[in-house]
Amino acid sequence: MSVLIVGSIALDTVKTPVEEHNDLLGGSASYAAAAASYFSPVRLVGIVGSDFPESEFDFWKSRKIDTAGVQRIEGKTFRWSGEYSWDMNTRETHSTELNVFEKFEPKLPPAYRKSDFVLLANIAPSLQSHVLEQMEKPRFVVADTMNLWIDTARKDLDALMPNVDLLILNDSEAREMTKETSLIKAGRSIRKMGPRYVAIKKGEHGALLFGDNEFFSCGAYPLEDIHDPTGAGDTFAGGMAGYLAGTIGGRITFTDLRKAMIYGSVLASFCVEAFSLDRLRNLTMDEINERYETFKLMSQFEVSE
Ligand code: AMP
Repeated sequence: MSVLIVGSIALDTVKTPVEEHNDLLGGSASYAAAAASYFSPVRLVGIVGSDFPESEFDFWKSRKIDTAGVQRIEGKTFRWSGEYSWDMNTRETHSTELNVFEKFEPKLPPAYRKSDFVLLANIAPSLQSHVLEQMEKPRFVVADTMNLWIDTARKDLDALMPNVDLLILNDSEAREMTKETSLIKAGRSIRKMGPRYVAIKKGEHGALLFGDNEFFSCGAYPLEDIHDPTGAGDTFAGGMAGYLAGTIGGRITFTDLRKAMIYGSVLASFCVEAFSLDRLRNLTMDEINERYETFKLMSQFEVSE
């Protein structure tokens, strides 16, 4: 089954203590779509300007990502630039230029409206809701958000919450949203706002998953070389949503979500190994499954002789 993904499509400028690259393909929807495409067909919804490289449409086509929902209008593509410090975790945003994004009103092509799986990747919660309003009863809705919306669009975010099955956010966002210092309390408290399940990402320390009296915790893949952490969270969300859409035919169980979280973590581990989403352009399922098996081995603690 395909997954509809809406979010930002950007040209990013990223600086780390050792490298800097300009005008790279970025944006929450770009990362999420590339990750999801390893598990299911993707229907992409977003907006780009006249400066957006045609070659990226060829890339999407090569990954069977349907771009009928990507609007191209006169003007400049959304641009974001940021710089990482030596820990490759702390990030300063230098600029965010909305450009064509300012006029973005997601309009779903008729064929998209019946999609069963939806990933509302990180964009303004009012736009996320606008997409859901155009859909005919999706089976499973995954949403991502960021601190900007918790600070500036809390009402819109609260209105979206009851329509979300799985909310994905990072640890600092979960704390900010709930004013809880404990992530366990924060996860439980966000579930009360509406989402049936909540996944809290902790960067290099893994992720937590909360359900109804159900809890799961996983580590992160032990990577030696991180080149560009940008988009890891979007990739995690795309991997989870893609796995669920492509693999689970019936009702989604907590066990399915646990597996999805490991696949999300695997895809995120590849994402940070190169700038932009370059490492996600041509992975193989063997590479993905090998890391999945490593996760399994890492979490065993009673090993039979
Ligand atoms: P992450 O590293 O997961 O926070 O995602 C980074 C991506 O988010 C970059 O590729 C940016 O283009 C994109 N981005 C940055 N700010 C925003 C925003 N306000 N809305 C949507 N996408 C954004």
